[in-house]
Amino acid sequence: MTPNQAASMTFYEREAILLAPFAMRSADSAGREHPEPLHPYRSPYQRDRDRIVHSSAYRRLAHKTQVFTGEKGDYHRTRLTHTLEVASIARTIGRVLRLNEDLIEALALMHDIGHPPFGHAGEDVLNECTAECGGFNHNQQAVRIVTLLEDRYPEFSGLNLTREVLSGQGSRFKSDSTDTIEQSLLEVQVVDAADSIAYDAHDADDALELGLLDLDQLLAIPLWHDAASRVQREYTALNAKQLRRGVIRQLLDTLVTDLVDSTTSRLAAAPIESPAAVIAYGERLVVPSSTVFEQKTQLERFLFDHVYRHPTVLAERSLAGEALRGMFERYSRHPEELPQPSRERLRQTGIPRVVCDYLAGMTDRFALEEAGFKDGE
Ligand code: MG
Repeated sequence: MTPNQAASMTFYEREAILLAPFAMRSADSAGREHPEPLHPYRSPYQRDRDRIVHSSAYRRLAHKTQVFTGEKGDYHRTRLTHTLEVASIARTIGRVLRLNEDLIEALALMHDIGHPPFGHAGEDVLNECTAECGGFNHNQQAVRIVTLLEDRYPEFSGLNLTREVLSGQGSRFKSDSTDTIEQSLLEVQVVDAADSIAYDAHDADDALELGLLDLDQLLAIPLWHDAASRVQREYTALNAKQLRRGVIRQLLDTLVTDLVDSTTSRLAAAPIESPAAVIAYGERLVVPSSTVFEQKTQLERFLFDHVYRHPTVLAERSLAGEALRGMFERYSRHPEELPQPSRERLRQTGIPRVVCDYLAGMTDRFALEEAGFKDGE
């Protein structure tokens, strides 16, 4: 095929040539709730990705906490930079497995779009506040945002995304109580695995930068120890910072390579030859080897005890939680103080859910100002 012939291929033809039999093809999409004509050169999943990138909920991820708030400086990840790391890792995995990268990118860029301000602290408080009307979960909120709350088109609410993207995000929500992610497309499973790889590496990196951990503590964890040994074999006389960055790089490489190798073996052994076979298989196919799975679990336990439960992080969480709870109570008593678009939804949706949607959409900065902690004081 000449470059000119390649350039004139439709996205259907490109996918037919490039993708593996178990990948999800645009041509087999179950479509959108509100049917739309095909775009001349963007595939349905590319359009989904673009709709997500242009949504206001996506832009707000820049000012939402991943683990550490903006008070802690500019080095560490925000919800947006985490999202971009997940998309980057997931696309790498997707390309080598010959999956649908456009679908993967759309899923990765939307996966955390439902997070409220203040990370999991915010999520816990909103879940408590809405206990009597169904609770709050960031994965479910993401579906609410893209089907209902984003207001961009005159013909319908939300972004009218393809059913594959919606059900992919939906399986993340349902997977909190059941094993539906095990019955999801490989593209969905890849994003889930990439999310886990990204936060294992970057939460440790951020915690070291912030001085919540020291390198020696992490070097006692086998996954870190092995990565550090490899880096030190290649480069001698590194200072602590260079070593840390080398380890993060090595860690990502080790985790991604192991995941790709292990997944490739599982797909071949099953054998899996269509997206329908992936779903019917009923077990997760995109998984690390058992050795790496154990080592990852060990690292995650360590991060849970030493980072997510660190007194500094817990103190921030409780302050942020109080601010959010105070606002929930205030707006519930005075819904007339909500902005106009929220007030319009009160009659149909009810006060608690409308207040919750409004608060969940806030960035950390806006929420702190609203709560009376001007400039984060
Ligand atoms: Mg995530």
